[in-house]
Amino acid sequence: MTTTAVRTTATTTAADAPPLDTSPLESSSALLERELTARHAASGPTPGLPAPRVVPLGAADTLGFGHPDPHAATRPTATVQLTSRAVLIGPWGGAADAADTADHADPTACGQCLAMRWQRLRSRSEREALELGYAPHGATAWPVLTDFAVDAVWAAYRATLSGPRPTPPGTTAADRALPQVTRVDLGTLATATFPLLPEPLCPVCVQERPDTAEAARMALGPTPKPDPDGYRLRSLDSYPLPTAALANPVCGALGSDTWINPASTTTAPVAGTHFVRGYAGLNDVTWSGQANSYGTSRTLAYLEGLERYAGTHRRRGTAPVIESLHTLRADGVPALNPADCGFYAPETYANDHLVSPFDPDRKIPWVWGHSLREDQPILVPARLAHYSAGVEADNFVFECSNGCATGGSLEEAILFGLLELIERDAFLLAWYGRAHLAEIDLGSCRAPAIRTMLDRAALHGYDVHAYDTRMDLAVPVVTALAVRRDGGYGTLSFSAAAGFDPEGTVEAALSEVLTYIPHLPYQVAERRDELQEMAQDFTKVLHLKDHAQLYGLPSMTEHAREYLEPTGVHSLTDTYRDWETRRPRTGDLMDDLRLLRDELTSAGYDVIAVDQTTPEQHRMGLHTVSTTVPGLLPLDFGWTRQRALLMPRLRTALRAAGRRPDDLTDDAIKVVPHPFP
Ligand SMILES: [Zn+2]
Repeated sequence: MTTTAVRTTATTTAADAPPLDTSPLESSSALLERELTARHAASGPTPGLPAPRVVPLGAADTLGFGHPDPHAATRPTATVQLTSRAVLIGPWGGAADAADTADHADPTACGQCLAMRWQRLRSRSEREALELGYAPHGATAWPVLTDFAVDAVWAAYRATLSGPRPTPPGTTAADRALPQVTRVDLGTLATATFPLLPEPLCPVCVQERPDTAEAARMALGPTPKPDPDGYRLRSLDSYPLPTAALANPVCGALGSDTWINPASTTTAPVAGTHFVRGYAGLNDVTWSGQANSYGTSRTLAYLEGLERYAGTHRRRGTAPVIESLHTLRADGVPALNPADCGFYAPETYANDHLVSPFDPDRKIPWVWGHSLREDQPILVPARLAHYSAGVEADNFVFECSNGCATGGSLEEAILFGLLELIERDAFLLAWYGRAHLAEIDLGSCRAPAIRTMLDRAALHGYDVHAYDTRMDLAVPVVTALAVRRDGGYGTLSFSAAAGFDPEGTVEAALSEVLTYIPHLPYQVAERRDELQEMAQDFTKVLHLKDHAQLYGLPSMTEHAREYLEPTGVHSLTDTYRDWETRRPRTGDLMDDLRLLRDELTSAGYDVIAVDQTTPEQHRMGLHTVSTTVPGLLPLDFGWTRQRALLMPRLRTALRAAGRRPDDLTDDAIKVVPHPFP
């Protein structure tokens, strides 16, 4: 849509916005409704064909951020929505059996659901204009509704909204079972149909209900595994993903499209993206898969996109508990004190206008989670569980997707969430604690995938190393490090993984580092001056990408000396011999989860899971959780926002792991930004 965004004055309200009939989109909508109604009347009785109801789409905010939508009352039942470029017909169809029987699901979608999904896919400038209260001004008197354009819309309207309905074109059964939207392009008359997932935040379809302790209680139990050494319950391609509903240009839940990167010489990457409005404005949320085939990468990308979708905002139709920590404590309600997860340094709160210190007397939003240590529900600050949600009262920390994971059951999702927390904690302990690690002899790994990855890295001029990064917890953690042989830009690249199977863990760490090295030298060369300034002044390290790219500078190698001088090189078998005797090899994933829980609780930590599963995921058989282990080192990006540096565990864990005879003193900490990608 071509808009010249003009900021309305602070005193402007919806009431004195331009009269509806002056907007070209409004008058075209009225014209289209008149024309369709005339054709409807002339066509005689058609069974099931509703009277056309047309509303404009794209001139008012439908997500509830900006000015109220003047069509809010009629949009849910509208059968046609007119945008500046196209006519959207529907939603139509949608089998009742597409939905589950759970309380939070609705088998049908409405016009409001469509409008919300459509608006989320608009460009940044369009969304800012709609959602921040700018008044859109059409540049010209479009859309042009010629007679033959209206005839085309009428033909599509009659075909899709009266029975018998056409079979939806989706390639998967999951897509065909959903409500559909047919788009008629007003420039070309091209007609295409896309599936629409019901919108869980639609105020018309979903009645918000209070979040409760009882609903959060998790009854974890026996979880049969396909084989004792496998930790994923189902194969990736067994999930009924409605792929067209997840990515399509009209109402894709995760974005408009996916794209492949055929230029990558180490993996077959697939990615997608969309904007999510968070406390700091619109964030570009990218989801991707990096496997060795595009098909697998695409499935991984959808799963990651859904996990982010579940994690950024709560999409379960529940209202958070609003209370202060002190009141909850006084009332005897179990609640996680955010202090246990770490805060920033006092200087950060003094200088960083985006954050304020936590105030235990201030009311903040909370969500119910489940403590696996106490086996009972516990309130968790919403800010720590949903990383794009936040209000002014709870801006004490910026959380990221740390500890969020997806699986075919809650048990599987929690297991992988905890493994991620353990991986990052160990990585940060090794880095900030200057741990001297033992190298794993990659020549002793037998997996062909590992051998081929080493060869591919070599073609890029990199040597790859792997280090045993376990601290006081028994589960294998591996850090991978790629070192550019000629010492040029893109010198060092790190990654890490944690898992039950040692060789699988090495493979996961290597596979991640392999995704970075084809691009790193170019990224570093492009940002050379900026990165060199960061190397001189760490407070200029602000974003996620800054951390990893900083170590692409040859001059930063001195800070990674501990990795380049390992304490020894051991075979994979020797490295994890003790673990192999402890690792449960039963057919029940719950035994694996119990081991992780017990490792963490006997080290003195609680283990908390918040169910983030959205209704869309529920329908696909997917579960997403956010896990929290208060006290483990949290991963943060931005040098002035490093909670890890102040955590008691940074002082004690290396001693507990037998890596030091004493606690780490403050002057022994490596006060240099971590290189975690
Ligand atoms: Zn709806």
